[in-house]
Amino acid sequence: ENTLEIKDLHVSIEGNEILKGITLTIKSGEFHAVMGPNGTGKSTLAAAIMGHPKFEITKGSIVLNGEDVLDMEVDERARAGLFLAMQYPSEISGVTTSDFLRSSINARREEGDEISLMKFIKEMDGALDELEIDKNMAQRYLNEGFSGGEKKRNEILQLMLLKPAIAILDEIDSGLDIDALKIVSDAVNKVREETGLGCLIITHYQRLLNYIKPDFVHVIMQGRVVKSGGAELAEKLEKEGYEWIKEELGIED
Ligand code: ADP
Ligand code: MG
Ligand code: MG
Repeated sequence: ENTLEIKDLHVSIEGNEILKGITLTIKSGEFHAVMGPNGTGKSTLAAAIMGHPKFEITKGSIVLNGEDVLDMEVDERARAGLFLAMQYPSEISGVTTSDFLRSSINARREEGDEISLMKFIKEMDGALDELEIDKNMAQRYLNEGFSGGEKKRNEILQLMLLKPAIAILDEIDSGLDIDALKIVSDAVNKVREETGLGCLIITHYQRLLNYIKPDFVHVIMQGRVVKSGGAELAEKLEKEGYEWIKEELGIED
């Protein structure tokens, strides 16, 4: 049983406060969708949880299973079981996808307990098959020249192999056609069933949530969670947009 607790989180970039007090708790098996207009701080939340150096935490706390995440280096956060599928995955020249995956897996294991090459290849091939990714892709440099859709599948490939405790999926649906969306969603659902993954899914579209059912939906606006509900909230947003929430809260653009 894993619990990630975010309390009253304030985050600034270069002196501008972007997040103004986010409180969220994610437990094993729970899927929380985070929605909201562009530029409201969704990716900032993801980056702050993972420890991106550009984002300054000015107030609040992030705790995983009782341990202070804000005290951990980036690699320690990954080792503790946190995972981010990035909205804009970076290209890393000179490192193959396969080598990157294997060292990421081993970074989470004790020294002397590294995954064997045979076992790794077996697991990777299984995941590549499930995601319908061409096997040759694993030998290409990480994300280099990958299409938008290939980058997204590659993020989910990492999720499948790393089996984190808590994952943040930042707009994994952008750039995916409907078939790819189904394949990626099936893979995420399988990880959810098999490992009890807890998840924060950032998306603009209800469409993704038809495939990956959220237990909770949160709306972030202007750096705060302004509304939370169940799956029905995402449906209402799809139909009616965000205006009604702005009106309710008296928010001006
Ligand atoms: P969302 O993911 O909700 O679309 P972001 O978290 O990416 O929004 O951005 C929130 C705000 O922070 C925006 O105003 C954006 O311009 C700003 N921002 C994001 N990343 C950076 C950065 N690296 N440097 C400066 N400003 C940034
Ligand atoms: Mg955005
Ligand atoms: Mg974003």
